[in-house]
Amino acid sequence: MGFKTHTEGGSWTGGGTEVFNCNLNERNAIDTAFNFMVSSGIPCLNRTGGLTSLSNCLSGKTVSSVEIDCRGSSCRSGVFGTAPRGGNSINMCDLGLPPSGLAVDTDVTVFHELIHSCGGGELDSWSLENHCYNGHGTINPGPTTVSGFVGETSDLGGGLRAGTFVVWEPGTGRVFVKVSTGGSWNSSPTISRGAELNVNRPSYMVPPPSGGGGGSWV
Ligand SMILES: [Zn+2]
Repeated sequence: MGFKTHTEGGSWTGGGTEVFNCNLNERNAIDTAFNFMVSSGIPCLNRTGGLTSLSNCLSGKTVSSVEIDCRGSSCRSGVFGTAPRGGNSINMCDLGLPPSGLAVDTDVTVFHELIHSCGGGELDSWSLENHCYNGHGTINPGPTTVSGFVGETSDLGGGLRAGTFVVWEPGTGRVFVKVSTGGSWNSSPTISRGAELNVNRPSYMVPPPSGGGGGSWV
C-alpha cells in the first residue's frame, strides 16, 4: 500500500526501476492533505457528533495504509479524483493535484475520496466536505451531481432520503447526520435526523431552483 509505482526500463526478463506514479510535488500535496484531514477534517466530524464510525474509519486511513494512484491523463475530464466505494484505494486526477489544483483542492479531494473508501456515496462525500471544508476549497455540487444523489439513497418517507452517514431532504436541501436507533435481528433500526450539516441548501434541492450552478466530480 502507499503510493502506487510502475516499472521503468528493464526488459521482459525483469530489471528496471520502480517509479512512483505520483511525482514528488503530488506526493507532498497528498501528504499535506492527509495531515489536514487529521488536524481538521476528523475533528470536524467528531465535533458534529453522530459520525463515530466514519471518523474511526478515516482515522485508519493513512498515506501508507491506502493505495494512492495519480492517474493523470487517464482521468475523465473535469474529475478531481475517484475511489471505489468501500475499498482501500484512491485515484487522484490533475484537477485535484498541483500544478492544476491548489493545495486546498488536494485537501478536499483526498477527504472526499476517503469518505467513499469508508463506504460513503456521493451525497455523503459532498455534504461532509461542504460541511467540514467550508472555505477550504470545497464547492457546491451541481444539479447533475445532486440528481444522482436520488438514485444512490433510499426513501425513508416524509421527504427524507438516507445515505450511508447522512440523511437528506431533497425538497428543502437540508442534510443531517444519520442517526440509527433500535433495531435487532428481526427489525430494522429507526433512522432519524441528527445534527444539521452546513451545506448550501439551494444546491441540494431537487428539483433545483433555477439558476443553480456548481461543480461535479466523482
Ligand atoms: Zn465522489
